Amino acid sequence: MSTNTPSQHHSPTQALPLTGRVAVVTGASSGIGEASAERLAALGARVVVLARRADRLAELVARIEKNGGSALAIAADVTDAAALRAAAARVEAELGGADLLLNNAGVMLPAPIEELAADQWQRQIDLNISGLMNAIGAFTPQLVRAAAARGVADLINTSSIAAQNIFPNFAVYSGTKAYVTHLSRHLRAELGAKKVRVSAIEPGIVGTELQSHVTDRGALDWLAGSKETMEWLTAEDVAETVGFIATLPPRVNLQQVTIMPTGQAA
Ligand code: NDP
Repeated sequence: MSTNTPSQHHSPTQALPLTGRVAVVTGASSGIGEASAERLAALGARVVVLARRADRLAELVARIEKNGGSALAIAADVTDAAALRAAAARVEAELGGADLLLNNAGVMLPAPIEELAADQWQRQIDLNISGLMNAIGAFTPQLVRAAAARGVADLINTSSIAAQNIFPNFAVYSGTKAYVTHLSRHLRAELGAKKVRVSAIEPGIVGTELQSHVTDRGALDWLAGSKETMEWLTAEDVAETVGFIATLPPRVNLQQVTIMPTGQAA
């Protein structure tokens, strides 16, 4: 319904649910992070997309801008705490600070523990735990400040059903994700009083590049079998959930969200 008269001018775009918000997404060059950045931008947020592959980030920024959104690429390795602090300083200077962090960069490298794949253990711990903490360290001050000024901010951590369930040969990955979920619950209790919502998203299997890094034969066979017997989630399915969490009224904090492929039992 339009009541336009020549004297009434309406903005061509209505305010979107996340207009005015600034969202930082780590691991944004593929999979869940990439889809979530697009979703948050479509909901009106200005998004900062962070990962190591600058070419992929540039393509994503171009796509978001083509669709009418706003995005800034920062190529950085989240295991480098100084690089993350520099990224946060840039977000502060160029966009006035973040009020949403999707802490999502991660890697899954299953192997029987007796193979003693210590380098793979370390990569998972460095990225899924230390990288996650580096982003929390860099951006929490901005989240707290934004929440005080505007009544809400969001820290959304990508965990996994591996945080809860038992998967032989996935012990180290599952341990890192148990860390993510348990940390999130504690941070929610700590930051909720300051109007910062904290959520852990725990997806079942999502078709992304995550599986392409797996080298363990048994795990590859298990994944291939599972793909034949069920329809995996898409990154967009998880992105939809991220958007849902971020657009809830400020009083509502989805603490933990399990999102499963319908056909995945556990
Ligand atoms: P992808 O492999 O597609 O995405 C991982 C992202 O992390 C990429 O953008 C990658 O970009 C980035 N990344 C990796 N290392 C670093 C680093 N050192 N510094 C900065 N960014 C880095 O996988 P998903 O989208 O599936 O994974 C996203 C999250 O979802 C992970 O935490 C994963 O554990 C979790 N998850 C995934 C599930 C699945 O089945 N796919 C299920 C449950 C949870 P780049 O290489 O350019 O740096």
